[in-house]
Amino acid sequence: MKVIRLREGKERSLLRRHPWIFESAVARGGGDAGETVRVEGGDGRFLAWAAFSPASRIRARAWSFDEGERIEPAFFARRVRDAIALRGRLAIASDGLRLVHGESDGLPGLIVDRYGDTLVAQFLSAGVERWKKVLADALLAATGLSRLYERSDANSRGLEGLQPATGWLRGEGPTELAIREHDWRFGVDIAHGHKTGFYLDQRDNRERFAQWLRRGDGRAKVLNCFCYTGGFTVAALAAGAAHVTSIDSSGPALERARANVALNGLDASRAEFVDADVNVMLRRYIEEGRAFDAIVLDPPKLAPTAAHAERAARAYKDLNRLALKLLAPGGLLFTYSCSGGIAPDLFHKIVASAGADAGVDGAIAERVGAAPDHPMTLAFPEGEYLKGLVVVRK
Ligand code: SAH
Repeated sequence: MKVIRLREGKERSLLRRHPWIFESAVARGGGDAGETVRVEGGDGRFLAWAAFSPASRIRARAWSFDEGERIEPAFFARRVRDAIALRGRLAIASDGLRLVHGESDGLPGLIVDRYGDTLVAQFLSAGVERWKKVLADALLAATGLSRLYERSDANSRGLEGLQPATGWLRGEGPTELAIREHDWRFGVDIAHGHKTGFYLDQRDNRERFAQWLRRGDGRAKVLNCFCYTGGFTVAALAAGAAHVTSIDSSGPALERARANVALNGLDASRAEFVDADVNVMLRRYIEEGRAFDAIVLDPPKLAPTAAHAERAARAYKDLNRLALKLLAPGGLLFTYSCSGGIAPDLFHKIVASAGADAGVDGAIAERVGAAPDHPMTLAFPEGEYLKGLVVVRK
C-alpha cells in the first residue's frame, strides 16, 4: 500500500472532507497515476483514501474519508448507484440529465450525462481514468443501458497529464441525438458538441426565461448572446417573442440552433442568427441605437480558477455594461457566469458596477444557479460554478 504524508498543519481541509490535496501540502510519498494511496496527516493518522495524480497540482483526490472503506469495484458501483438515486428524487423535466457530477457525487473528475438511452462520460482525473472500465460497467449496470460514449477531451485532462480520448466505450449507436426538455426538443451532437453535447445546467433557467417572457406583454424583442445551440432562443420563441437575435462565434452551434428552431415547429422568420463576437455586436447595436426587451448573457467560462478572476471580472463587467445599455426600460437581463473562480457575491458586485458605469439601475428579481442535477455539496463549495441574476431594468 502506498502512502502520502502531508505537511504539518495541512490536514485541515481533509478533516472538513474537502476532497483535494494540493501538491504543496504533500511532504512525502506518492504512487502511480490514479493509484489509490493512503493519506496521512503530519502525525501519521489516517485522513483519506485518495487517487494519486503525479502530474497535477491537485496531487490527489479523495475517494473516501472512512478508513474501513476499500477502493474496489463494489465501492464504485455504490457511488454510481447513489448518484443516480439522487437524480431519481429530483424533478427533472428532461430526458437529458447529469447523472454524475464529479466531486459532488464522490467521484472526483467523473462527469456523466444521460441523453435518452445514451450515456456520455468525461474521465477528467487520473483516478477515474484508472478505474474507467469498472466505472463504465457500473454505469451500465445501474442504468440498465448499453451505450456509453466517451468525451474525455476537456482541457482539464491535460492538467492531469492525460491525453484526450473520445469514442464509444460500450456499445455503439448514433451520435446525433434528440432530447426533450420541458415542452421542447433539442438536437444534441455528443461527438462534436461542447462538453458532452449540451448545457444541461441551464435547463431550469431556460424555462424561467420563458416564464418571464410569458408574463410580459408577449411580443418581446430578445437578444440571446452566446446562444450555442439555441436553448434560450427556443424558449423565447416558444414564449411568443416577436423577434430573437441569437449570437455565437461557432458556426456549427448556430447551424444546430437553426435546426432546433425548426425541430420545435417555431417560426424561423422571427429568428435571426449572427455568427460573430458578442463583444463586437453589442458595441455595434449601441451605435445603431437598438434596444431589446430581454437579453440573455451566458458567456463561456472566463475564469476557470480564482487565479483568473481579476481579468475575468473586467470582461464580465464590460459585457454586462454593454447589455444593460441595450436594455429598454422595464427590460429583462438574464446574466450568468459559469466560472468557478467568480463567487456569487463577486458576480453580484460585478453586475452592480456594470450598472453604475452604464448609468442604468435595475431590480435584482432572482438569484439563480445550475439545475439540481449539478449539485453542490457542503464539503465542496467549488461545486457552485454557475450563478445568474435576473435583473429588471428601471
Ligand atoms: N446559453 C447556451 C450555452 C452558452 S455556452 C445554452 O443554453 O445552451 C457559451 C457559448 O459562447 C458557446 O457556444 C461559444 O461558442 C460561444 N462563444 C464563446 N466566445 C464567444 C464570443 N466572443 N462571441 C460569441 N460567442 C462566443
